[in-house]
Amino acid sequence: MRPEILFPLFAPITSLKGVGPRVAPLLERVAGPLVRDVLWLRPHSLIRRTPAVLSAALDGQIMTFEVVIEEYQRPRTKTQPWRVRVSDPTGFLTLVFFGRFADQLEQRHPVGALRIISGRVEDAQFGRQMLHPDYMSAPDKAGDIPEIEPVYPATEGLPARRVRVFALDALEKAPEMPEWQDLAWLAREKFPAWREALGRLHAPQSEADLSPLSLHRRRLAYDELLAHQLAMAQRKAARRREPAARIPAGPLADRIRADLPFVFTGAQERALAEVRGDLQAGERMSRLVQGDVGSGKTVVAMCAMADVADAGGQSALMAPTEILARQHYETISGPLAAHGVGVVLLTGRDKGAGRKEKLAALASGAAQVAVGTHALFQDEVAFQKLQLVVVDEQHRFGVAERQRLQAKGQAVHLIAMSATPIPRTLELTMYGDLDVSRIDEKPPGRTPVATRAVPMGRLDQIIDRLKDAVAGGAQAFWICPLVSESELSDLAAAEMRAIALKKILGDRVGLVHGKLSGAEKDAVMADFADNKLSVLVATTVVEVGVNVPNATIMVIEQAERFGLAQLHQLRGRVGRGSRESSCVLLYDPPLSETAQQRLDILRRTDDGFVIAEKDLELRGGGDALGLRQSGLPDYVFADPFVHRELIAVAGDDARLIVNRDPDLTSERGQALRVLQELFDWKAGLALRDAG
Ligand code: ADP
Ligand code: MG
Repeated sequence: MRPEILFPLFAPITSLKGVGPRVAPLLERVAGPLVRDVLWLRPHSLIRRTPAVLSAALDGQIMTFEVVIEEYQRPRTKTQPWRVRVSDPTGFLTLVFFGRFADQLEQRHPVGALRIISGRVEDAQFGRQMLHPDYMSAPDKAGDIPEIEPVYPATEGLPARRVRVFALDALEKAPEMPEWQDLAWLAREKFPAWREALGRLHAPQSEADLSPLSLHRRRLAYDELLAHQLAMAQRKAARRREPAARIPAGPLADRIRADLPFVFTGAQERALAEVRGDLQAGERMSRLVQGDVGSGKTVVAMCAMADVADAGGQSALMAPTEILARQHYETISGPLAAHGVGVVLLTGRDKGAGRKEKLAALASGAAQVAVGTHALFQDEVAFQKLQLVVVDEQHRFGVAERQRLQAKGQAVHLIAMSATPIPRTLELTMYGDLDVSRIDEKPPGRTPVATRAVPMGRLDQIIDRLKDAVAGGAQAFWICPLVSESELSDLAAAEMRAIALKKILGDRVGLVHGKLSGAEKDAVMADFADNKLSVLVATTVVEVGVNVPNATIMVIEQAERFGLAQLHQLRGRVGRGSRESSCVLLYDPPLSETAQQRLDILRRTDDGFVIAEKDLELRGGGDALGLRQSGLPDYVFADPFVHRELIAVAGDDARLIVNRDPDLTSERGQALRVLQELFDWKAGLALRDAG
């Protein structure tokens, strides 16, 4: 239930003065449907209306002058404007007015009168003009013209100045709120109270007041971050109260590990210990395991699945594509089956009797592990005792899809795996409701991928080298970006590249792109994995995580157009065997300084976490990383980069609140409920539902 104090803010924008049926849709486009949304608009710049002389007028500037009305030029037709010539001792200017109201101009501003005018100066064909001045006042009314005017976002038909009036009305309607911040923290940061902060937001006195680092913005950002962190901490706490099967660390997993031709890295050991800790806690696990492609996430999950099998339960490992599911099956079925754990692979390809048999094995419990694609959560798939779901490339699945699979058992534990390393600073915002393990160490013995940035002008040289390498049995990826407005022309570029390479390298060149069906894509990828193709040309999507150990060359065209994290992921496709691998970043010169720095970072390190962190620094915002799609929230006031130091504090604050006052009954707790309703994070999270 929404607290009464919020009613005026959650009223529709039509409750604002002057917002009727015509204006409402426009204002909704700028702000949103609620008074709250208008209150949350903020000026992006300031206009200073300090008077100048006409000789100082500058094209394109918003300026203010004190002038005498000289002469009216009536329009000769209905469509022509009124023109009014004005002057000061230093020069002339023409004011231009369209529309019927212009008829009254002459009465209101008679020839000879002194006026203060303010608006945008333009150089036009017939001299300097000002189209519809923002202000035109007699000198005794000069006080009506604000000296400093904040500029709001606007839209066609709804100018910034009107938006400002609505925002100020919304501010009028904003009540004083009970303080939801910790008072000691508030005092230490010198944060203003909530309403005061909004007041300053709407009355900036200087550019500094527009900064996201201003006190009032930081206060509002902190409110927002706290509301979000609190919702996630509550969700996490609720999950912890849900009892789930205790699964002990069994001997089976250790026997399987003893068989592996390698030992776990320290990071893998840590991740496995964390997973096992969760499994034994008697609470439902929701753990994200993050790590670069090839860092060994799947074998960690395999050990957890062995523990579950040891305890008499079943697990399901879900991958986004058939080829990935198949590769996982190949990785884990041998070691598991060698110790009597039944593993089935279930994909869209399974039909008829074969499929029936697999379904029966899962329903009866004869098979303890299912590996598969979307085929796993179909209705016909039933488990005897599903206790653990592992989702690979978790962001590729919808929440509902994952939940459908988890619903096939009771209080099913979850391991989500992701090969997109998230910078630490963003981890809490994106995954605050999950427990996170980072595998930030690579298995030993991998040679780093030699990475070079090469201008496009040297394409022929690169192709020559590729030809030699392919003749020697090497395999290569060749990536063409999908970047232009028209996907079709990008696709055409990739097709042309494939044709050109075929001319030089022969038939063993394949092409995958987004317009192919899943099965077609899989077929080409499989041919490449089976070494029936030497070169795979691809538009962006080389399926994340796909493993082709024989591939040692990665060429990326227009590398400057990719995000750093994406380049890193693409490069991760090679260097998976023990042989020397190389990555060529082709670019169109000249490179901007930032682009240069980005390519440099890639050459210097192959640690995905470091790269993600640097990428964030260089670009200064999470959005540029393409993280929004993978779950970076859309904050109103907070910028996960600019306010990163507030995120950690909000996270601690939220955890403390949930520990001390889980039902939010204290005085601060009551106020925090208002905060949560104000930001509505719960609703947003319900859609996402990471738990
Ligand atoms: P990810 O799921 O993170 O991409 P995998 O678990 O599939 O990584 O491991 C990639 C490859 O590396 C597999 O062939 C796996 O057997 C191997 N591998 C995993 N851990 C190690 C290790 N500690 N040492 C050597 N090889 C390993
Ligand atoms: Mg993987």
